[in-house]
Amino acid sequence: MPSRRTVLAAAALLPLAVGARPASAAPKTVQDYYDRAAKLAGDDPVLKALVKALSPDLQMPAVQPVKPFKIFDNVAVVGTTFVQAMALLTSKGVILIDAMGSPDDARKIIIPGLRAVGVNPTHIKYVVAAHGHDDHFGGAQYLADTYGARVMMHKADWDLIAKERPEHAPKRDLEITDGQKLTLGDATIVFHHRPGHTPGTVSPVFPVRWKGRRHTAILWGGTNPPATTAAKRTYLSSVRTAAVAMRKAGVDVELNNHGGADYGLTRIEQLRAGATKNPFIIGPARTQRFMKVMETMLRGRILQDQQKAASGRSTPTCC
Ligand SMILES: [Zn+2]
Ligand SMILES: [Zn+2]
Repeated sequence: MPSRRTVLAAAALLPLAVGARPASAAPKTVQDYYDRAAKLAGDDPVLKALVKALSPDLQMPAVQPVKPFKIFDNVAVVGTTFVQAMALLTSKGVILIDAMGSPDDARKIIIPGLRAVGVNPTHIKYVVAAHGHDDHFGGAQYLADTYGARVMMHKADWDLIAKERPEHAPKRDLEITDGQKLTLGDATIVFHHRPGHTPGTVSPVFPVRWKGRRHTAILWGGTNPPATTAAKRTYLSSVRTAAVAMRKAGVDVELNNHGGADYGLTRIEQLRAGATKNPFIIGPARTQRFMKVMETMLRGRILQDQQKAASGRSTPTCC
């Protein structure tokens, strides 16, 4: 007859013996990673949107205009449902993060959009391209030529566009370095190099105010996972580094230049409809969960790449 101790030990093993893996078990398949990310997201619409944005079957939204709006006392958003630019309003002028796709976008969307929310576009001092893809820098040179704004991008992405020579590329101007601070009037923005989406993607952290109260925001500079497995690994490492830095900096606001990726477009509309709580202020814990969802989805994407490589298949990736 087995001893009482043996019976208890066997009972403790029972869930594994019948095949039910405990929730904490390490994911083994691509689907395990995606399921875990979905579980982390739960019914949080911001995190659910992120899971979708990082899925291999991502569909971009149809391009529609977005009515400009001030989502914080000191942040205005202009753009379309595809891509947005954010203006950080300081006591000494405007730092514009991203510049959409073309000089036409600058002329027809950014400039009138800023005016519509009471921001004078002649006050744009800096145009920061979060990364070197044309939907983020296309209007930059026009704003530089028109208002004397300086254009900033990480060196790796200045190099990228020097090599690829895309249409509407701005002339090489100021280089962003990791950890660099830019102070304009009453605001200091910190640029963090978070390579992955491109080699020179930058995710700035900056102070925002909502009804006079100060918060700390991150704008994730490039979301769509890149084509190669090596670049996805770089992205994964950036996500992990960023999460630690964000915890230290007390980041409680999450922004994205593609508002379809993080429920941002809906959150703008919630604010426009008079939401009293700002839905972009998600708090430090949810911000960390956001990064964990990113990390988990990327691990799944990397494993998926490895399996495809092993089976000799490859999928072209865009953007
Ligand atoms: Zn991009
Ligand atoms: Zn983009």
